[in-house]
Amino acid sequence: LVVLENVNKHFGELHVLQDINLSVHRGEVVVLIGPSGSGKSTLCRTINRLETIDTGTITIDGQPLPAEGRGLARLRSDVGMVFQSFNLFAHKTVLQNVTLGPLKVRKTPKEQAEKRALELLDRVGIANQAHKYPAQLSGGQQQRVAIARALAMDPKVIMFDEPTSALDPEMVQEVLDVMVNLAKDGMTMVVVTHEMGFARRAANRVVFMANGQIVEENTPDEFFGSPRTDRAKDFLSKIL
Ligand code: ATP
Ligand code: MG
Repeated sequence: LVVLENVNKHFGELHVLQDINLSVHRGEVVVLIGPSGSGKSTLCRTINRLETIDTGTITIDGQPLPAEGRGLARLRSDVGMVFQSFNLFAHKTVLQNVTLGPLKVRKTPKEQAEKRALELLDRVGIANQAHKYPAQLSGGQQQRVAIARALAMDPKVIMFDEPTSALDPEMVQEVLDVMVNLAKDGMTMVVVTHEMGFARRAANRVVFMANGQIVEENTPDEFFGSPRTDRAKDFLSKIL
């Protein structure tokens, strides 16, 4: 569904993505892990073209990611994004946050967009908060709004970049539970996370990055049980 071939990117002198080859299949959950600065966020951001790449190709559902224009807007809306910092609109209610994309980008009629938004808020367990503003919600609730907002666009894939890193510990699990349920429902997901419990429960594949390269790829059992490279062993010894 998402295919990266020989993707390279520099930030000035820094070769932040080095010959990345990665395929994410439909319905697959890929957990991306690696040390700070290894290029995980940059990789996520290239997939919906928040960052440009220098060389290589990215295709989504067989379509190359166009450089700009309407084709880009459409392909971008196929790729949902959930960030560490929620990025909700503070002056819009929960319901307005979730309906904004469908109303503006998909031109969905308002009634239909609201009905769908309420269903999605119910799915992430916060239908009763629909008329509140983000600041009135806990971090875990805000992140679940961000997930509902991503789902409202009917994306083909959702990228999660450290979705629980900014949360108080007691709220991490409620967000991970929503993500595990999405995975069970067959959503294609790429998840940057250090939550190894989530990786073991939900990931089909773990991709380990270091210094801009994919160093190792394996099933969670194999990766955590018997990492093949010294870099992966070293990383795991620090986080487990
Ligand atoms: P973390 O675990 O800390 O989130 P990461 O694996 O997500 O790290 P990236 O955010 O992708 O890493 O950053 C990779 C490297 O690229 C880092 O060295 C970072 O400083 C650098 N970098 C990221 N964004 C930019 C930018 N806009 N301009 C210049 N350098 C950047
Ligand atoms: Mg990052």
